[in-house]
Amino acid sequence: MTKKYNINKSEAEWKELLSPEEYTILIKKGTEYPHTGAYNMHFDNGEYHCKACNAKLFESDHKFKSSCGWPSFDKAIDGAIDYIKDTSHGMTRVETVCANCGGHLGHVFNDGPMETTGHRYCINSASIGFEPEAK
Ligand SMILES: [Zn+2]
Repeated sequence: MTKKYNINKSEAEWKELLSPEEYTILIKKGTEYPHTGAYNMHFDNGEYHCKACNAKLFESDHKFKSSCGWPSFDKAIDGAIDYIKDTSHGMTRVETVCANCGGHLGHVFNDGPMETTGHRYCINSASIGFEPEAK
């Protein structure tokens, strides 16, 4: 059964709205090269939003420095993410998608910081946008 998202656009519609890289990652479930993304080493205070539909996904308080090469968070905003079992590439992983539009964000692993949640949301920079905290 396919889940109905609040935002339902065809692939052609998304292609109009997104850059080629964003389209490949969010809609075609691609992965950007490690250590290349705009937010990998970005630690300003603020919120991260879905690049496709602008839903709020992560807060900068939960971003942490990991060596994996992608933006990493130990916690998402409640209800913002859907979790899908992903058995592609011969691995069993948990895919994370935006709960509002179904856009692919990345995966979540259980090797995050033990002093907080133990989770590591490994997210493509191309899937998210950043809004600085209002001063
Ligand atoms: Zn979205």
